[in-house]
Amino acid sequence: MRPTSPLPTPYLTSVPTPQGFFGPYGGSFIPPVLREELDKIYAQYMAIKDTDKFKTELEAIRKDFQGRPTPLFYAGRLSEAVGGKKGEVEIWLKREDLNHTGAHKLNHCISEVLLAKLLGKTKVIAETGAGQHGVALATAAAFYGLECDIYMGSIDIAKESPNVTRMKILGARVIPATHGLQTLKEAVDSAFEAYLEERETAMYCIGSVVGPHPFPYMVREFQKVVGEEAQWQWKEQVKGSGKPDKVVACVGGGSNALGIFSVFIDDEEVKLYPVEPLGRGETLGQHAASLKYGTEGIMHGFNSIMLKTGAQTEHGPEPAPVYSMASGLDYPSVGPEHAYLFSKGRTKLAGATDDESLRAFFALSKLEGIIPALESCHAVAYAMKLAREAVKEGKGCKILVNLSGRGDKDIDFVWTKYAETYGAMPIEELLKAE
Ligand SMILES: *Cc1c(COP(=O)(O)O)cnc(C)c1O
Repeated sequence: MRPTSPLPTPYLTSVPTPQGFFGPYGGSFIPPVLREELDKIYAQYMAIKDTDKFKTELEAIRKDFQGRPTPLFYAGRLSEAVGGKKGEVEIWLKREDLNHTGAHKLNHCISEVLLAKLLGKTKVIAETGAGQHGVALATAAAFYGLECDIYMGSIDIAKESPNVTRMKILGARVIPATHGLQTLKEAVDSAFEAYLEERETAMYCIGSVVGPHPFPYMVREFQKVVGEEAQWQWKEQVKGSGKPDKVVACVGGGSNALGIFSVFIDDEEVKLYPVEPLGRGETLGQHAASLKYGTEGIMHGFNSIMLKTGAQTEHGPEPAPVYSMASGLDYPSVGPEHAYLFSKGRTKLAGATDDESLRAFFALSKLEGIIPALESCHAVAYAMKLAREAVKEGKGCKILVNLSGRGDKDIDFVWTKYAETYGAMPIEELLKAE
């Protein structure tokens, strides 16, 4: 008998509601014209998602273009370095860093653009902050031959020039948002404005399990492939109970985490850890740990747990400034499904600081020959901590980590900022828990 969770079962077909609610979280708090458009997309998605055409095409692209399934890899030297022994305490990595373009984001971008194409749209629109979502979407748009408009704050355009160049090479138009602070928030406004005007021919594509219904639901469905693969790979490759004891993933908006968590939600024996960026301190503005420090509120068209300043804007509570050295994690809220799972006790509070994540960056690079994305390092750092605890308690523990992306994009940052402190540090020092 499987232990049951306090959640509706089977979870994935019971949650969210047709209105996009995960318990009290989620929903759609947007102007009526926009809601009408998104309701249409939801209805069309529901009508095609189980058709052979959609499923077969997605399967073929995942295999031939993206290189899926990505491997499930036993990080043996990393496991040993934190005291683990094969058969007892093991850390396994789901290698989304080997997915085409080097991260999990293409999983939902490819599916979103396929949906746009099947709906007869000729263009996709999105905003991007550091450029990771923009590059993944531009890749998918190039693959399908759709136009792609990416809105980006002028400040971010200047800061993230390699990603801007990538998007342009892939054929996307990068459109600067020149008002206000000229960063992500302004880019979101501009992208939505453009979408409202072009909604007949264009589809808006979101970058995580956030935003108004149906995006949190659709993106979870598109990322679920990661968990499905890991589940059968685990049964084939790992000796023991046939399932991991603990599953760990970093959380910005939460798409890679839900991708790997979703298939395990019905089985309470599998513990789930969404790792939030604790940055460089507990003060507001020094982290982006929404579940840990946040409260309920409506932002960007959905109800969730968010970090607020206490002030109000015309759209609702003002989001607090956030910080993480990993630019993919610095979001002042989480997807509504994360708020729900956490409020139900199904996921555990988990976090990693900049410093712990940086040590994990060097540990994985030096011990396994895998340079991880700074985002993913948060998950690796937390998995190392769980492994150390299990060793200390003399308990067996098999940990599955979603290695969401590769770190090529981060090497200059890491090297200039931290190599002098950590680069030459003996590995034993790096592995010390702090
Ligand atoms: C964008 C990004 C993340 C954070 O996004 P989620 O939606 O929380 O998964 C994590 N890792 C990498 C490599 C990313 O590019």
